[in-house]
Amino acid sequence: MAKHYYIETMGCQMNEYDSDRLSRMLEDSGYQRVGDPEKADFVLLNTCSVRAKAEQKALSRLGRLATLKKKNPRVLLAVAGCVAQQRGVDLLERFAGLDLVLGPREIGNFRVILEKVKEGGTRVAAIDARGKPVSFFGGFEYFKHTVKAFITIMEGCNNFCSYCIVPYVRGRETSRPPEELLDEAKNLILQGVKEITLLGQNVNSYAYGNTRFSGLLKSMNELEGLQRIRFTTSHPKDLSPELIQSFARLEKLCPHIHLPFQAGSNRVLKAMKRGYSREKYMELIDALRNARPGIAVTSDVMAGFPGETEEDFELTLDLIRQIEFDNLFSFKYSDREGTPAAKMEGKIPEAQKLARLDRLQELQRKITLKKNRELIGRSLEVLVEGTSKKGQGLTGRTATNKVVNFINDKRYISKLINVTIKRASFNSLWGELTSEET
Ligand code: SAM
Ligand code: SF4
Repeated sequence: MAKHYYIETMGCQMNEYDSDRLSRMLEDSGYQRVGDPEKADFVLLNTCSVRAKAEQKALSRLGRLATLKKKNPRVLLAVAGCVAQQRGVDLLERFAGLDLVLGPREIGNFRVILEKVKEGGTRVAAIDARGKPVSFFGGFEYFKHTVKAFITIMEGCNNFCSYCIVPYVRGRETSRPPEELLDEAKNLILQGVKEITLLGQNVNSYAYGNTRFSGLLKSMNELEGLQRIRFTTSHPKDLSPELIQSFARLEKLCPHIHLPFQAGSNRVLKAMKRGYSREKYMELIDALRNARPGIAVTSDVMAGFPGETEEDFELTLDLIRQIEFDNLFSFKYSDREGTPAAKMEGKIPEAQKLARLDRLQELQRKITLKKNRELIGRSLEVLVEGTSKKGQGLTGRTATNKVVNFINDKRYISKLINVTIKRASFNSLWGELTSEET
C-alpha cells in the first residue's frame, strides 16, 4: 500500500526550497503527498527561528502534530529547519512523539536518515553537519508545471549581525559550484520554468573558485529559454559595482532588488554590526537607480532595536521617506538567545516597539499605494503564474515583482503578456490584457 507524507513549511524561501528537496526525496522513497496530516505516515514540519514569535509558532504546531501519535502510533514525525538546528536533542526530550530532528545542512543525508527512522525504534537528531556544503539536489521532475522556481546557491552567513540567529543555525557561508547550479537551472528550464530566483542568506558573497556572484548571473543570463532572473537576499555592504552594473547589462535580470537596510540611524547600524552607514546605503540606491532606471527597491527594517531612541527612529522614517521603497518587510526587534543584542542594555518596551512599527507601516502603506497608483494606465509585462487566490482571474508578476490580477483566460498561464493597469491597491494591481504573448 502506498505511503503518504505531509509537509508544512514556515519561514523563508530557503525553507521552501528545502521542503521541495525533502518532498522530492520522500517521493523517490515511494511516499505520496497528502494535504491532511491525519492521513499521513510521515509528517514533517520545516521551521523558522529568526524571531521569537516564529519559534513559538513552530513549537506549538509541533506540539499539536505530536498528538497524532495518540491516534496512530505508527506515524513518523519529523522537524526540520532552524528550530531543529537550534534546539536539537532538546526537542526529542520535549516532544515524546517526535522521531527525527533534521538540521538544514543534513538535508543531503535525508534519504539515509529516513531509512534509519523508518526501521522504527530509533529517534534521531541529525544536526552535526553545519560545515558541510549544500548537496546537489539531482532530478527535477518535482518542479513540473510551475513557471517559477528557486535555486539555493549558497547557505549560511558569516556576518553575525548582532541581533541575528541565522549564522548560529545555518552555519558558515558555503557556495555551490557554478556548473552544478547551471545544470540545475537548465533542467528547470526543460521542465517549463521561465523564472529562476537565486537564493542565499547573502547572495552577493557567493564565491566558488574564481566565480563571483556577478559572474554567475552572467552565465545564467546566457541560458536559452530562461526569461527572468531574480535573487535574494543581498547585503548592502557586499553590493559590488559589478553587481550594480549587472542590472544595466543583463536583460534577463529583473529590475528589482531586495536590499535590507534595518535602520536609518548610523548609531543603531553600528550597534547592529551592519558594516555600512545610512549615507552609503542611499548612495547604493542612487547607483542602482542610475544603472537601471525604474528599478523596484524593497527592504527589511526593524523597529525597537535595544537603545533605539526617538531620534534614531525618526532617522529610519526619514530614510523611508527619502528612498520611497516599493515595499517594506518590517519587524519588531526580537531577542534571540545567544546573540550579542539579546544581552544589550536599553531594551525597548513591547508597547513602544509596536507603536513605532505601526507608524512605520502606516508611512510605507502610503508610499506603496502612491507608487502602485502611478502605474495606472501603463502597459506592463507580466509573467502569468496561474489563477488568483480568490479564483476570479489570473495572477502574475511584473518584472518589478508586483502582483497583477487580470481576466481569466487559461491560455495565458506561464506566458509573458502585456497588461494595462486599470486599478491599484496596496497589495496588488488589476489590469486588462494589452497584447498577446510578447
Ligand atoms: N540575510 C538577510 C539580510 O541580512 O538582509 C536577512 C535574513 S533574515 C532571515 C530576514 C530579516 O529578518 C532580516 O533582514 C531582519 O530584518 C529580520 N530579523 C533578523 N533577526 C531579527 C530579530 N532578532 N528580530 C527582528 N527581526 C529580525
Ligand atoms: Fe542575519 Fe545579518 Fe547574516 Fe542577514 S547578514 S542572515 S541579518 S547575520
